[in-house]
Amino acid sequence: MQDDRKTGEEAPRVGGVFAAGGEGSRWAGTEKLVSGLNGGLNITHEAADRHVAAGYGAQTAIRWLGKDGSRRELSYAELAAVSSKFANLLRQHGMRQGDSVFSLMGRVPELYACALGTLKAGMVYTPLFAAFGPEPVRTRLEIGEARVLVTTAALYRRKIAPFRDQLPSLKLVLVTGGEAPEGCVALEPALERAGDQFETVRTGAEDPALVHFTSGTTGKPKGVVHVHGAVVYHAYSGRIALGLEPGAVYWCTADPGWVTGTSYGIIAPLVNRVTMIVDEAEFDLERWYGIIGRERVEIWYSAPTAIRLMMRAGADAAAAFDFSSLTFLASVGEPLNPEAVEWSGKVFPQPFHDNWWQTETGGIMIANLPGMEVKPGSMGKPLPGIVAAILREDSGGLTECGAGETGELALRPDWPSVMRGYLHEEERFAKCFAGGWYLSGDLATRDADGYYWFVGRKDDLIKTSGHLIGPFEVESALIEHPGVAEAAVIGVPDATAGEIVKAYITLNPGYAPSDALEREVRGHARKRLGAAVAPRSVLFRNTLPKTRSGKIMRRLLKARELGLPEGDISTLESDET
Ligand code: ATP
Ligand code: MG
Repeated sequence: MQDDRKTGEEAPRVGGVFAAGGEGSRWAGTEKLVSGLNGGLNITHEAADRHVAAGYGAQTAIRWLGKDGSRRELSYAELAAVSSKFANLLRQHGMRQGDSVFSLMGRVPELYACALGTLKAGMVYTPLFAAFGPEPVRTRLEIGEARVLVTTAALYRRKIAPFRDQLPSLKLVLVTGGEAPEGCVALEPALERAGDQFETVRTGAEDPALVHFTSGTTGKPKGVVHVHGAVVYHAYSGRIALGLEPGAVYWCTADPGWVTGTSYGIIAPLVNRVTMIVDEAEFDLERWYGIIGRERVEIWYSAPTAIRLMMRAGADAAAAFDFSSLTFLASVGEPLNPEAVEWSGKVFPQPFHDNWWQTETGGIMIANLPGMEVKPGSMGKPLPGIVAAILREDSGGLTECGAGETGELALRPDWPSVMRGYLHEEERFAKCFAGGWYLSGDLATRDADGYYWFVGRKDDLIKTSGHLIGPFEVESALIEHPGVAEAAVIGVPDATAGEIVKAYITLNPGYAPSDALEREVRGHARKRLGAAVAPRSVLFRNTLPKTRSGKIMRRLLKARELGLPEGDISTLESDET
């Protein structure tokens, strides 16, 4: 596998976790969160085997809830054993350290064996969304030079078989949950036969571990490279930003095809030795609410798109359920509207706590930590050790903005889980770093108390009559209207104003599109935001175009509005006008 690590002046200067954690470094001490492996560092050793060695083998690591109501429990000892079996299986088929292993499947127990077994064998793991169409699957397998793919027979037939001959690097396809089509190997019988002892590969902190594709919200997805040393940051951030303590019952609802599904759906929880709930099903309000009470979920990590669906169903729909077990709720992926924070605080024992990070950062950077005062609509503060800034570009280069000023959110790129490259895209990677900063591509402000507020993506900023408008502010105001469920706001060119604000909304049950409602929603926004910032027109839609990870694709609405090409829509999910 190609190592796209940048060695130029602007590249991250993280010399691996042990160097990063050296004396005098802000990360000094974090290495104590992991045990190390005789001078090496391997994520699976930290996530499974060391807990077994420490006497916790019998603790439940994964409590899996099948779509059909079935349940399966996997202890830490079983997880260690099945990942060894998977690692042995890869070796038997001639795979070597550094080879690339992809998964394309839903949330099934085999996924965890695959992820942990791959890392144990020193190979590089990439999860894909099972719902991707054939073309996005093919391009990602190609970019990542996949040698192994783990999938189901049905997905294989629909999405791989038609173009397998175009993927010369793909040597092994393992199929879970049934008979293997021609050219594939059935996973379960092969695992059954494989030995459950495997000497974990002593990877170094800088050895590649994961490649994650970004959500593709702003353009063509990038293959982000992460290393084994990132595990220190997963351990640390899971502990302090989500409150993952050994033995806690934790539920992360993210799809495994998205970085949250790995960093906080596999690694952080297991390294912190929690019991994870894994629900095979997609979002279903009653099912989700039921799981919280029945499984006594304590820590719940979800996303704004789901929270807005809960809100849309109303507080009454939640009244019959027991949420008393919940001690911490967190949200990531998109800005969490103040309305959603306040609503959740009334329905659950406490509100959802927003946190911000990216595929590139590998872990949570800015958060409303447990116990911290929440300012609804704010992403919170940088985690201890993370140095963040709001930057503006002027003639002298990059300078820090003052409190309340909008600029690009930037981070000192020296935390252990910072990306080490974009696969085959050196230039795009290099562009992320300047003046000693990692530039996030997001705009934000910091208030006088040090809280960060999301404004919008750099590409989504609207310039109207001399004002700069972030879509988030306008969208949050729109969804305060009782009829509005979700909103997306873009700027469209205008001869006099430069750009004018245009909004797309979906409605709550009991509301129907009408001219009167359109006027009313605009009037509401004007009252809240003023005439200069409020949308000039509001369009009704059944759904908003979103990525598979649940992010609104404003660029697509804009491209259509302007009659421009749609660009890369490989991650597009819902899209009904
Ligand atoms: P691409 O980089 O391919 O355009 P993407 O940026 O959506 O896709 P991800 O890495 O999955 O891919 O998402 C990270 C982005 O999600 C952040 O840069 C930010 O824009 C948004 N985001 C994540 N969490 C939050 C949050 N709490 N508040 C506001 N925005 C958030
Ligand atoms: Mg991005």
